[in-house]
Amino acid sequence: MNTFASTFWNHLFNGRRLSTRLVALSLVLLLAVQGAVFIAIRASIERNARATLADELAVGERVWQRLLAQRAERLTQAATLLAADYGFRDAVGSGDTDTQRSALHNHAARIGAPLAVLLDTSLAPRAAAGGDSALLARLESLVQTLAPPLVSQGHQLALAGGRPYQFVIAPVKAPLTVGWVVMGFPLDDALLADMRAVSGLHVALGLYPQPGEPSQSSTVKLLATTLPTTQAAQLRFDQTAREHELSLAGDLCVARDAAAAGAPWRVLLLRSVDEAVAPYRALQTTLAFITLAGVLLFALGSVWTARRVTQPLRALVRASNRLAAGHFDQVLPPSSRRDEIGDLSQAFDHMRVGIAAQRDQIERLAFWDPLTGLPNRLQFRDRLQLAMQSGPCAVLLLNLDRFKQVNDVLGYASGDRLLCAVAERLRTHKPSGSLLARLGGDEFALLLPGATTPGAEEHAQRLLGAFEQALQLDDQHIDLSAGVGIAAWPDHLPQAQAQHLPVPDQAPANAEALLGRAEVAMVAAKQRGAGTLVYDAALDTSSAQTLSLLGELRRALEQGELRLYLQPKIDLSAGASAARVVGAEALVRWQHPQRGLVPPMEFIPFAEQTGFIRALTLWMFAQAAAAMPALRARGVQRVSVNLSTRDLLDQELPEKLAALLTQHRASASMFCLEITESAIMDDPQRAQQTLDRLAAQGFKLSIDDFGTGYSSLAYLKRLPVDELKIDKSFVLSMERDSDDAKIVRSTIDLAHNLGLTVVAEGVETAAIAEALERLGCDEAQGYHYGRPAPLQAFMATLPEPQAALVN
Ligand code: C2E
Ligand code: CA
Ligand code: CA
Repeated sequence: MNTFASTFWNHLFNGRRLSTRLVALSLVLLLAVQGAVFIAIRASIERNARATLADELAVGERVWQRLLAQRAERLTQAATLLAADYGFRDAVGSGDTDTQRSALHNHAARIGAPLAVLLDTSLAPRAAAGGDSALLARLESLVQTLAPPLVSQGHQLALAGGRPYQFVIAPVKAPLTVGWVVMGFPLDDALLADMRAVSGLHVALGLYPQPGEPSQSSTVKLLATTLPTTQAAQLRFDQTAREHELSLAGDLCVARDAAAAGAPWRVLLLRSVDEAVAPYRALQTTLAFITLAGVLLFALGSVWTARRVTQPLRALVRASNRLAAGHFDQVLPPSSRRDEIGDLSQAFDHMRVGIAAQRDQIERLAFWDPLTGLPNRLQFRDRLQLAMQSGPCAVLLLNLDRFKQVNDVLGYASGDRLLCAVAERLRTHKPSGSLLARLGGDEFALLLPGATTPGAEEHAQRLLGAFEQALQLDDQHIDLSAGVGIAAWPDHLPQAQAQHLPVPDQAPANAEALLGRAEVAMVAAKQRGAGTLVYDAALDTSSAQTLSLLGELRRALEQGELRLYLQPKIDLSAGASAARVVGAEALVRWQHPQRGLVPPMEFIPFAEQTGFIRALTLWMFAQAAAAMPALRARGVQRVSVNLSTRDLLDQELPEKLAALLTQHRASASMFCLEITESAIMDDPQRAQQTLDRLAAQGFKLSIDDFGTGYSSLAYLKRLPVDELKIDKSFVLSMERDSDDAKIVRSTIDLAHNLGLTVVAEGVETAAIAEALERLGCDEAQGYHYGRPAPLQAFMATLPEPQAALVN
């Protein structure tokens, strides 16, 4: 029961519904207030009723006294009338006691007095009538004591024969007073009935036990009462307080004793409390009904109010659930209310509009390029993914050439405007149904759904055609070119094909992979200046084909398939006739078991991309160092070894080379390290650091392929180099091309002015050799003197050590 109550309570007050709690709380408060009022009213009624009762009883007592007095007056008149009766006077005057008694008896009976006594003028009893002789004897003695106060007060109450009587007195005149008549009337039921009729109170007359009676009846004996018999039977006179309460047959009564103090009887005036309170009880019932009806009305009212409050709240909850699910478009039904709830729903709708706007903005930022208004990389990738799921498609990735320069020269604002112009131009050239996007920087992409590789190539050419006309930026004409990489699905993504597209989780990865391949093709296209290029695994250092090639290269190194070839370097200073081999360049070859001798251009770029070149360089260096004693014995002072960009970035290169020198008991001055211009310019600061350390170790440093890169003279001056090696492209054509000849001449002058020696490579003819000698070139290298050859073959071309010593 207890748990039920607490569960109910919990449900009511801690329940989820606000409306339930509101209604419950106000009902409980109302009930508490009404209950308190009810109890207060009830207590007040009780108190008032009792006070009224006490008053009523006090009044009742006075009525009782008055009633007795009135009866005495009436009886006295009757007695006086009787005393004036001739026959009676006559009988009194006769002096005969029997006659007197008989007349007394007859006349008293006429006015209903059971007791009558005749007194003489000295108030001594002369005759008595009524009752037996014993009573009459006692009556005479009683009247002797009663007579004097009777004369003075008119009436007296006294016990006679075990009953209370009311006695009155009247003179007998003839015409002088010849005697007195005393008459006694019992306090009977009629008197009590009168009292009840007049006062509305019940009356009970009781008598104390008399001296002659048996002792067991010590209690007061009920003589007469107006109470109904059931109540009369329960009536006890044991409470002696003047006013007290007693319960009669379940009825609570208040009683008041109206007998004179010391009287041998008791007269209780009784009033039922229930009876007195009854009218108030009816009032209370009415009040209870009104309270109940009030609570009911209040409950209905608060349910209605709570609904009015919580219904819009619930609508708001539903609306915010919709917001959480991303439905920002559903307008809240406008509230006609002007209260806080109305304000709330209005504020809520403003919030919805605000969030929707922000979401749109975020979406714009997330999926659109703010500069050109084109879709961005994210959107492009998603759309590519969808296209890949529905069939073949191709991606063209376009990257502008020299855009960085434009940015540097014209400023970023112009760069931005140029990008917009490019976007506009691409837009007008893009085929319908395709998607153009800016992936970032100067990179644009075109998605061609349904296109195959040949179709994509055609589109790529057309796209490049868009740049044939210069772009107009303010009053400047800007010639732009671009590299375009092409990758097609499924031609260029076989692995993904094997993964059974579409798989939702892998999906973005596949789109990303195809984009990556287009990028590989684009980078290669730019490197080769090829315009457009279709993806090929050979271009891709991360492709599976590349990985296997790398494995092959490793194997080649471990199993001795690589070869050291040497090409002589000739000293020109002593004149063409006295040409002698002063150095050699170490060049690598790959003796492939199937492919035969593989030229370096077929694997060096790849070795550079993968970082394998570092191992290759060290291997070449070690081979050259090992051959050094034999070479030096034949007059070869120094061997040139090629370093790549990757080597320059290796912080530990100087230590590694030093270790090899120690191992082969060689010294750094026996080596020249050739570094291409582009390798230095990739990261000039790092290059400078490494070169400084190598120079400090004692290595001679040479700039290879000089003239093909963009190294600035200022930079050249700061580098610790000793030698410039003029690129063979100038040397080869210097006979035919006067421009190239000029370049060769000025390079020689420049090198000398900077304090560097000059080597010309690619010397194929005697004429060129002579020309170079005339120009003051220090050393030469080329087929004219000797092709790169294995160590033994190279050594064979050199003079015997003995011969050298003899010379
Ligand atoms: P490079 O350093 O400029 O090497 C000179 C290239 O010119 C060599 O080609 C050589 O055979 C060629 N050559 C020499 N004389 C003549 C001539 O009179 N006419 C013509 N047409 N060519 C001549 P090779 O050996 O095929 O090497 C090509 C490139 O491969 C080298 O250019 C170098 O960049 C790279 N390479 C070769 N071996 C190594 C190496 O061990 N390490 C590194 N890092 N790169 C190497
Ligand atoms: Ca070289
Ligand atoms: Ca070279």
